Amino acid sequence: METLVAIGFAGMAITFLIGASVGSFLNVVVHRLPIMQAARWRDDAFEMLSIQASARVAFNLAWPRSHCPSCRTPIPIYHNVPVVSFFVLKGACTHCSAAIPRRYPIVEAVLGLVALVCVARWGFELSAASYLVFIAALAAIALIDWDTGFIPDEISVPLLFLGLVNVAWIDGGVLRLTDALAGAIAGYLVLWTIFWLFKLSTGRDGMGYGDFKLLAAIGAWLGWQMLPSVVLVAAISGLVFAAVRYLKSRDAGPLPFGPFLSLGGVTALFMTSA
Ligand SMILES: [Zn+2]
Repeated sequence: METLVAIGFAGMAITFLIGASVGSFLNVVVHRLPIMQAARWRDDAFEMLSIQASARVAFNLAWPRSHCPSCRTPIPIYHNVPVVSFFVLKGACTHCSAAIPRRYPIVEAVLGLVALVCVARWGFELSAASYLVFIAALAAIALIDWDTGFIPDEISVPLLFLGLVNVAWIDGGVLRLTDALAGAIAGYLVLWTIFWLFKLSTGRDGMGYGDFKLLAAIGAWLGWQMLPSVVLVAAISGLVFAAVRYLKSRDAGPLPFGPFLSLGGVTALFMTSA
């Protein structure tokens, strides 16, 4: 907390803006990564069938520039300021007045607050930035899994290695690299074991391999010691959510586990001693 007082209002505003910008990039990732993945699967399928895929327009995280998904009008930079622009534009595209999803400014504002919390907790240090990246990656995974039912390896696998890097070189806390490695391996194996016990006893898939890799990444960041807390928070929050949803509608589809594992990861992060 002293750090927040020390950096003053201007420092807090800048910290919030940095976090909100991370949130803005997160919105891009959550929107584009599933589209990129679907395009790749399509290309792979065409290749297997030896069909010439039609020339595809380049589409990645940086290209094309931000545009309205409705009318494709490019969004100028001064209309792309995190949180602020949503209110300036009154939540609609200036060109075709299509509504801008409310999730965008919410994600930006939440990440801005997360940046402030990280600085309050770890000080104006590299580790604060490191844990901001960890939380942002978990948020991206949670949202993509929620939207599509898939956890992209493009996020979870680099996140695992970043966790090892963080423990070895950035955080400098009580965690040793062996704890992080054991966390990654145990995280994967715990869910893998539950998956097979569930599958062999009920014949159904309760989770996916994406969930194993996600818990492996969380284990690399927090060490094996925190895995029981992560799984407990994930299981309880997932069950409560599933029960509430079941009361509302009996035939809702399968519930993705990624958002609840991510929630468990963030909760456990703040349970550790700084
Ligand atoms: Zn538009």
